[in-house]
Amino acid sequence: MNKYPRSAYVHIPFCHRRCFYCDFAVIPLGNKVETLQGYGSKTVKEYLYFLYKEILSIKHKSPLSTIYIGGGTPSILDPKQIKELIDIFRENYGIDYGAEITMEVDPASFNQDDLHGFIDAGINRFSLGVQSFDNQILEKSGRRHLKEDAEKSCSWLKREYDSGLIKSWSLDLIQNLPLSGYKEWQDDLKKALTFLPPHISIYDLNIENGTVFKKLVDLGKLKLPNDEEAFRNSESTHLILKSSGYSRYEVSNYCLPRHQSRHNRVYWSGLGWWSFGQGSTSSPWGSKLTRPRVSRDYREWVIRQCKFNLDSSLTNKDFVYKELDEKIMLGLRLKEGIDIKEMFKEQNWGNKKFESNFIKLLKEWDRFLESGLLVRKGNRFFLSQPKGMELSNQVLVSMFKWWYEINKD
Ligand code: SF4
Repeated sequence: MNKYPRSAYVHIPFCHRRCFYCDFAVIPLGNKVETLQGYGSKTVKEYLYFLYKEILSIKHKSPLSTIYIGGGTPSILDPKQIKELIDIFRENYGIDYGAEITMEVDPASFNQDDLHGFIDAGINRFSLGVQSFDNQILEKSGRRHLKEDAEKSCSWLKREYDSGLIKSWSLDLIQNLPLSGYKEWQDDLKKALTFLPPHISIYDLNIENGTVFKKLVDLGKLKLPNDEEAFRNSESTHLILKSSGYSRYEVSNYCLPRHQSRHNRVYWSGLGWWSFGQGSTSSPWGSKLTRPRVSRDYREWVIRQCKFNLDSSLTNKDFVYKELDEKIMLGLRLKEGIDIKEMFKEQNWGNKKFESNFIKLLKEWDRFLESGLLVRKGNRFFLSQPKGMELSNQVLVSMFKWWYEINKD
């Protein structure tokens, strides 16, 4: 176990506008951000001032092996600002040779010069939020870009990757958006594959409270694929990507050999990470700390952290501890699954408790082992592909029920 976190997430909360399904901590800036003198730019500069203060406030800085700049739409920033951000990490934490430095980018928020600027700043992996290549679906989802913008961005990233200027890139799509039936989804997948992205993330649409989609659903005005159609879409995703050489290494993530996201594996594997910025969640030593989602509260939080030393959840502990239910949940999302006995051992349960809790968990999971959603090999449990991965929630709900039952007294 690493003594200090070796990964950092940085949240850049700015977007041009809020997409209809999004409940992230974002600040929509409209087109005000376009010029360096514009209102948006002042807001951005002020945010970066507090972000840098937060980054510098950590006492135990150690060299980073992964950095992930997410949002929001980080590509709203000028390449010079991205360079400044990476340099702050380089000068104060150190960045390992060969570190993975990822940045999320959205079509129509950057051009080729920006892309070269981001690469010169040190970004070596991009995650492109395409979501769909269908203009009607994009419009219905409140996305700002068009299919043509997405195609252009994909071809730029492909070219930089082919020429060896970046190590990898990911093309991100959302499954089961409104108007995305079986045919539209197949078209999206096929289009994505023409750009040969080394990594593809496929997220399922979730209807979150407070979003435009939630309001439309409540009014009965949003037609989404039903469960059967959604399952059919997911099943076809698995088959199409598998036959194109992609491995599903996590429920929502597919890649060609050697292109797993190293940063995301840190979250899933239970290692610690720093995070910086409004609304972001860090877990350097196990317990999680989420920063305020509103700008003013975040600024006050940063001032407090700098003045009164860091929140106790940010001070060093000797090991990273996660609750067992969270470890099982994250581990089961991975292709390799979990070694349940190894995980149980870390709980320091006596033999009797160990056995009785294991038997209770097996009782919950028997039906999934029988129906083939879950597979057992010795002490290792993993979700089958594609069925178990698609219906992973059923297995996870039963595990949380077990966790609740054994802890309720
Ligand atoms: S671009 Fe991404 S972060 Fe911004 S509003 Fe849309 S979904 Fe949310």
